[in-house]
Amino acid sequence: MYDNRMRLQFMSLSQNESFARAAAGAFLTQLNPTLDQLTDVRTAISEAVTNAVIHGYQNGPGLITLCATIEGGRCTFAVRDSGVGIEDVSRARQPFFTTRPELERSGMGFTVMETFMDEVVVRSSAGGGTTVIMKKIIKGEAKK
Ligand code: ATP
Ligand code: MG
Repeated sequence: MYDNRMRLQFMSLSQNESFARAAAGAFLTQLNPTLDQLTDVRTAISEAVTNAVIHGYQNGPGLITLCATIEGGRCTFAVRDSGVGIEDVSRARQPFFTTRPELERSGMGFTVMETFMDEVVVRSSAGGGTTVIMKKIIKGEAKK
């Protein structure tokens, strides 16, 4: 069904933000991305994992799952937490919206993910955790 897929689970700790970013980048290299594409994906994964750590689990204990699938020239990533969830997803996705201004968050994480990835889907509900699914097209269909 898929050309390749992977799944990683790690504790909700800030040091795992760079681990997840590096792992996502390493998985993506099999599609021979450009440096810009690689940077886009690494940055978007970083934002999603940071959100899981600081918002989802509010810097407390928890597990984060990072999955990736490759189909043709596309890679789809999913970052999942079982934390507090998001009450109003469309409001949360607006630029500059943050619930943690006291932590000097700028409310730009989702905007960064949307800018750097080709598609971003957020599944969340209050108390039900959050899954952020992000797709990046590395090559057109012809090169499959
Ligand atoms: P920045 O990313 O610029 O540091 P931010 O994290 O507040 O600031 P976004 O990443 O755009 O901004 O997220 C917007 C808001 O959505 C957050 O303030 C938070 O309320 C909510 N949110 C995002 N991800 C999660 C998550 N995994 N669990 C719970 N709430 C989340
Ligand atoms: Mg953020």
